[in-house]
Amino acid sequence: MDKKTVLITGASRGIGAETARLFAGKGYNLIINCNKTFDSLTALQKELQEEYEADCLAIRADVSNPAELNYMFEAAGRRFGDIDVLINNAGISITGLMTDMTDDEWARVINTNLSSVFYCCKQVVPSMVRNKAGSIVNVSSVWGLYGASCEVAYSASKGGINAFTKALAKELGPSNIKVNAIAFGVIDTDMNKGYTEEERKDLAEEVAMGRFATAKEAAEIIYDTAANHPYLTGQVIQFDGGWI
Ligand code: NAD
Repeated sequence: MDKKTVLITGASRGIGAETARLFAGKGYNLIINCNKTFDSLTALQKELQEEYEADCLAIRADVSNPAELNYMFEAAGRRFGDIDVLINNAGISITGLMTDMTDDEWARVINTNLSSVFYCCKQVVPSMVRNKAGSIVNVSSVWGLYGASCEVAYSASKGGINAFTKALAKELGPSNIKVNAIAFGVIDTDMNKGYTEEERKDLAEEVAMGRFATAKEAAEIIYDTAANHPYLTGQVIQFDGGWI
């Protein structure tokens, strides 16, 4: 049987890296991406090749830059042909009062988190439509559903992802392509490394399950949503341990 190919943005660490490990373990070809910490990405590539004998391409590209994405998708196409699964995972957060946020910071958050999803989907959808198959998972946040104080741009970007997901799912359902989003609560990754021990404890107490999720648990719901359940589409799946 032909191997399937997955492209995961923001895979140098955290949720993206764990997701790459899971897909590699399931026998997929992989394209893994990040924009800055390329050493970590190539270390992961080596690990996936050695541990799982995965065929894996590591590409540095800024997901907010369509020209760099053109390069990435061309390289991916040359190596593996069509992409079967797209995981739009790359994301950043800038915290602070809305009134203190600069126009540049606003644009960085919206372009990295939301415009990137549009750019990457635009790259893969034509071949998915041709193949009448494909699955897209967009990594979102509970703040896109409920909003967070001091994370207005982040919340807006993730809310945009949620609406984008539902709309695109309707457009692509007739072509047998699934589009879903996972709205994560609090996951134990570098994105949350700014918390003090006390803040972490307080936050964990707010969560019904009493703890942060691990990146592996986050990866498992991404994989399951992407690879299984052929009838599941247009959903924003809240994965927050009963937090909100
Ligand atoms: P992380 O900071 O550990 O990893 C983010 C990844 O995205 C890194 O690999 C980074 O290099 C990459 N990245 C950032 N900007 C990029 C760009 N412009 N181009 C390409 N790659 C870029 O964070 P994480 O917790 O693993 O977050 C992954 C996703 O999960 C993000 O979209 C984030 O918003 C979402 N999320 C995380 C949490 C959480 O609590 N950690 C909660 C909800 C949603």
